[in-house]
Amino acid sequence: MSIALTDYHVHTPLCRHAEGTAKEFVEAAKRAGLAEIGFADHNPMPEHFDDWRMDYAELPRYFEFVEEARSLGFPVRLGLECDFILGREGWIEQLSGMVEWDYLIGSVHYLESGWDVDNPKHLFRLTDDSIESVWDRYWRLFGQCVRSGLFDFVAHPDLPKKFGHRPKGDLRRYYEPAVEALQEANLAFEINTAGLRKPVQELYPAQTFLELAAQASVPVIINSDSHAPGEIGAGFETALMQARNAGYRQVCRWCGRQRIVVNL
Ligand code: ZN
Ligand code: FE
Ligand code: FE
Ligand code: ZN
Repeated sequence: MSIALTDYHVHTPLCRHAEGTAKEFVEAAKRAGLAEIGFADHNPMPEHFDDWRMDYAELPRYFEFVEEARSLGFPVRLGLECDFILGREGWIEQLSGMVEWDYLIGSVHYLESGWDVDNPKHLFRLTDDSIESVWDRYWRLFGQCVRSGLFDFVAHPDLPKKFGHRPKGDLRRYYEPAVEALQEANLAFEINTAGLRKPVQELYPAQTFLELAAQASVPVIINSDSHAPGEIGAGFETALMQARNAGYRQVCRWCGRQRIVVNL
């Protein structure tokens, strides 16, 4: 594996759907030959919000988890995967000032209140008739997330394909405005290997998106979206190959919210 690689999208058991100790994650990152690991658990909300994130009162335990990982003599970054929700931007701003984050990830999961598009609970909503409007809605939010100025990079760009549903025709009609927004906002995005482990069985984003982004010189990072130590670095060979095929020769890292570019 390229020694340039890191894994910056890693969850902890605090989100209630991940497992592993700080030590197990760090050991896994060493074993995978990565240069750094970064935790980015789902952000708490001020009120109880859903059943797949830590409560706000648990945030100190998250910092303790990361501190424990840091005590093991391996580079560990502190991040957060933040849900981009229209009208709740102020909360992300508040979170951003609470501690010294290395990076904040912006994610669009919610298309509207109570509808997280990657939740199998809402699979029935993805039909041949609805998929076009689901994608329209998702990518509009994705653009707003990119332009919000709140984040250091955006997660899993084409997440709504998770279960294999995609609109018909050339999907560049969705990718092009997204890449343009990234370029204009000078924002990075992640290649997320979790898609390889989902029904769609491909990376987020699609290769065509990657090529457009590489042509526009949009910075990139490769992440696993691990919810267990065994997933650290999973699919990175595939991601690296596809990034190189798209034209990428560099990846990003972050420290104290400063972007650092590293040659592959
Ligand atoms: Zn999760
Ligand atoms: Fe996510
Ligand atoms: Fe995640
Ligand atoms: Zn994620």
